[in-house]
Amino acid sequence: MAELTPLAALGEFALINRLKKNIATTQASTVLGIGDDAAIIAPAAGQEVVVTTDLLVEGIHFDLSFCPLRHLGYKAVAVNVSDVAAMNATPTQIVVGLAAPSRFTVEAVEELYAGMRLACEAYGVDLVGGDTTSSRAGLLISVTALGQVAAGQAVRRSGGQPTDILCVSGDLGAAYLGLQVLEREKQVFLADNDAQPELADYEYVVQRQLRPEARLDIIHELRELGIVPTSMIDVSDGLASEILHLCAASGTGARLFSEFIPLANPALEVAAEFNLDPIMCALNGGEDYELLFTISVNDHAKIKNHPDITVIGHLSDLSDGVNLIAKGGNAVPLQAQGWTAF
Ligand code: ADP
Ligand code: MG
Repeated sequence: MAELTPLAALGEFALINRLKKNIATTQASTVLGIGDDAAIIAPAAGQEVVVTTDLLVEGIHFDLSFCPLRHLGYKAVAVNVSDVAAMNATPTQIVVGLAAPSRFTVEAVEELYAGMRLACEAYGVDLVGGDTTSSRAGLLISVTALGQVAAGQAVRRSGGQPTDILCVSGDLGAAYLGLQVLEREKQVFLADNDAQPELADYEYVVQRQLRPEARLDIIHELRELGIVPTSMIDVSDGLASEILHLCAASGTGARLFSEFIPLANPALEVAAEFNLDPIMCALNGGEDYELLFTISVNDHAKIKNHPDITVIGHLSDLSDGVNLIAKGGNAVPLQAQGWTAF
């Protein structure tokens, strides 16, 4: 095995130099990337800039005992791209704040950056700067993403109308189930250090947890279909809390039909094994990073045969409240547990 280099042996400046070696910029709007006191960005004429940030903290948002650094780097970028996409914007640049404990090696940080680079390539984003320091309390990754959208075309949470249709991309609940599998295998490992994790049967849900994709593809497809959603949000905390956010911002109620919530077969299997209700996993699990959006009824025909977009209900008058409709027609007010860091 090749020798590993402790971070302390290299120092901040040499580390930054090493990291930036493999980083190229491709966006037209990137005038200057890593290397100066600040990056320079020139948004195209007629575009607005969106900016968003996400902080990932070891022990709170990820567990390095089962999260490979390369995946973690990918995910740190993907979750920011997901927020940019949820504004109907195209991501263009990111900056990365990194605080690493001294037990970390240069090779470990390079793995993390390899994952971030992969994501930057996948989403067409330039890594244009950051800051690096040490940490006494685990690894901390802060990614800030910039994106562009034609002036006036950004989609807010607040634009939903009481007659709009409620749609979601992909399928829900799998990321939470993947986390259950990983936590279980970790306990097995802690009890017996020779135990090998049994993850082969759980590939889909584990991948949904460790290496989520931002649904930029959906943003592009909606554009091709000539649809501007009236409101949109990405599903990071579970469907229930995201619907409540959309409705609160839009000043509407909603009817969500539980039988329409998209669930993947592998997720159904894992839910059965863990004795969990897959609908509850979708409602309260989180980290699926799908897009939840509303469209005008006039646009319904354009998406109704789309294989990766599901109509799960509709908005309604504020006074109706936000309701989950069970298969038999029973309505119960939707509750959000969400995911809480505290
Ligand atoms: P300053 O003292 O102005 O903060 P630094 O020495 O921290 O400058 O950073 C030098 C350059 O390297 C800057 O362009 C900065 O954006 C970039 N940089 C620093 N840390 C990182 C990182 N973790 N990832 C990417 N770029 C970084
Ligand atoms: Mg700095």
